[in-house]
Amino acid sequence: RPAITLHGVVKAFRSGSETVRAVDGVDLAIEPGEFFSLLGPSGCGKTTTMRMIAGFEEPTEGTVHLDGKDVTGVAANHRDVNMVFQSYALFPHMSVADNVAFGLRRRRVPKDQIRTRVAEMLDLVELGHRAKHRPTQLSGGQQQRVALARALVNQPSALLLDEPLGALDLKLRQSMQVELKRIQREVGITFVYVTHDQGEALTMSDRIAVMNEGRVEQLGTPAEIYERPATRFVADFIGTSNLVRGVVKGRAGDHWKVEVADGATALVTELPDTVTTGAHIHLTVRPEKMRIGTDAPGEDVSRVPGTVTETVYMGSSTHYQVDIGGGEEVTVYQQNASGSTLVAQRGEAVWLSWRPEHSFAL
Ligand code: ADP
Ligand code: MG
Repeated sequence: RPAITLHGVVKAFRSGSETVRAVDGVDLAIEPGEFFSLLGPSGCGKTTTMRMIAGFEEPTEGTVHLDGKDVTGVAANHRDVNMVFQSYALFPHMSVADNVAFGLRRRRVPKDQIRTRVAEMLDLVELGHRAKHRPTQLSGGQQQRVALARALVNQPSALLLDEPLGALDLKLRQSMQVELKRIQREVGITFVYVTHDQGEALTMSDRIAVMNEGRVEQLGTPAEIYERPATRFVADFIGTSNLVRGVVKGRAGDHWKVEVADGATALVTELPDTVTTGAHIHLTVRPEKMRIGTDAPGEDVSRVPGTVTETVYMGSSTHYQVDIGGGEEVTVYQQNASGSTLVAQRGEAVWLSWRPEHSFAL
């Protein structure tokens, strides 16, 4: 049974005479113990979705289930979930331990139990040695860990995290990502994580729902979403993708032939059912799936001639911009062999190639 289920959830806000559908028909089933992310650009409805799971907001349409129970209309404090925000909202005049103990005291949990649970939580977030400090004496990352301990101490069945690392600088954010993953593994509870940072979602999540304009565009594992974006929005939003216009020319053995740029031939293994010969499509290819070279590739791969317009040396790899004609430019990431010079310089004619299974029609 899923830990969290959303059925046909809609949230409409009225602002003046207009109605904004912040969430526009979302269906989700989040499994127990899963690290599940809602990923999408600012304003796509992530926070509103979270607030409906937490009970801070009620859906206009649809239902929310927690552990199989319909909680639509149930107040937030009667739902077995806690939420962590970007602003830690710690009490500045209380010690770290008292901040973590706060909710337990309010629920009149026996003192010795409080002491044990608080100590356990502070150990979990590796702040046992800071129990007596004030939050203001801690770094931003440490304060966020206190907030996490406070949210976990009453053992909720799910934790909702709304861009919790957004206020931290990149280095700290990256180490906190690893920390959060470890903590989630140790406590084993369901985490629902909201972020607009695709790198963060890819590295941390078991599954990701990519949201756009109040809807889920794609739901899958990080690898599924990265390797096989279902829509142009996802292809664009997750990592870097090349989108190349093409016309389907028919079958070639196991593949479809697609004419791209100035008459070059690309091969694709699969086309959507609705697409047939003569159709105009977009092919998507990840920059690291393209190869660049000066020799003509074989006929079993997509092969497109072009001219290098820019090279960016990145140390372990080089990024090439290549003009392939027909008004199209693509980006290629290629690993650098040690001690080698660039495969091609700016202005040089090159061949691009990629395997048929590495491009998809969208
Ligand atoms: P995200 O968290 O993905 O940035 P939000 O869920 O905060 O997106 O917002 C989604 C949309 O709903 C936005 O257009 C936002 O302006 C609107 N919205 C959110 N909360 C309210 C509210 N209380 N009243 C009116 N509009 C809102
Ligand atoms: Mg938000």
